[in-house]
Amino acid sequence: MKDLLAGKKGLIMGVANERSIAWGIAQQLNDAGAELGFTYFNEMLEKRVRPLAESLNATFIEECDVSKDSSIEACFNAVKSQWGEIDFIVHAIAFADKECLRDNFINTTREQFSLALDASAFSLVAVSKAAEPLMSEGGSILTLTYLGSQRIIPNYNVMGVAKAALEASTRYLAGDLGPKGIRVNAISAGPIKTLAAAAIGDFKKMLKHDAEISPLRRNVTQEDVGKSALYLLSDLSSGVTGEIIYVDSGASVAGGLAIEGSAE
Ligand code: NAD
Repeated sequence: MKDLLAGKKGLIMGVANERSIAWGIAQQLNDAGAELGFTYFNEMLEKRVRPLAESLNATFIEECDVSKDSSIEACFNAVKSQWGEIDFIVHAIAFADKECLRDNFINTTREQFSLALDASAFSLVAVSKAAEPLMSEGGSILTLTYLGSQRIIPNYNVMGVAKAALEASTRYLAGDLGPKGIRVNAISAGPIKTLAAAAIGDFKKMLKHDAEISPLRRNVTQEDVGKSALYLLSDLSSGVTGEIIYVDSGASVAGGLAIEGSAE
């Protein structure tokens, strides 16, 4: 896999710290020879992201708040002047009011609903639109989703609705960008302990339950997700677009009851 992405350049959006799924993906892409750029949400996160990015010899590190058109525009203008063209984008971004992730879904307000869908789903549309002119030779765009888009997962609530919109957006974007050789896919990851996950009520229970019911009898890691991301961002998946690939130890195909010989 060493040179799978040699000569390829791409942007990692969504690293907050070393536990971030985006960071696990970045490490795999770096090992495969890609040249990486990183974006961070705001100034507060810059001090965490910059040293991580520099440790992988990142050649581009810029702020990008995906809830602001002006920030996306400035970021992609900077990508254009520095790199000209890019080959891939990792969109590993989600946001919701913390209150929504521990109350009943029915109590979601109009403002909370809009905020979650804007930052977590529309942002993929906006980022893809900004990236398209920089992918004239084709490219691959990857986003991160979760099973809460398809099933009722306690406390996931409005984020599940946002992920359903994100998954549908993945398919429509694949339709629009396919003729230009740009592929758009999503990884539906099993639960992993990250900053974003910590906001979800009873997240520890979710981790334990998933390990108990999944055929592989364990939770997935950043590395598991990173390796599938490498497949989706490289030529190995040249015929794959509009797909939601589950990287979840098989939990999504399990019946929901703990299986004999489950993980502790
Ligand atoms: P994380 O907290 O490390 O990453 C979330 C990122 O979103 C952070 O870097 C944050 O700065 C960024 N972000 C939020 N609002 C933003 C904005 N307006 N502009 C720019 N960036 C913004 O957590 P994570 O778990 O690595 O999350 C990455 C993705 O993976 C998310 O889409 C999440 O829903 C998804 N996911 C996570 C899990 C899990 O269990 N951790 C499972 C499946 C899917």
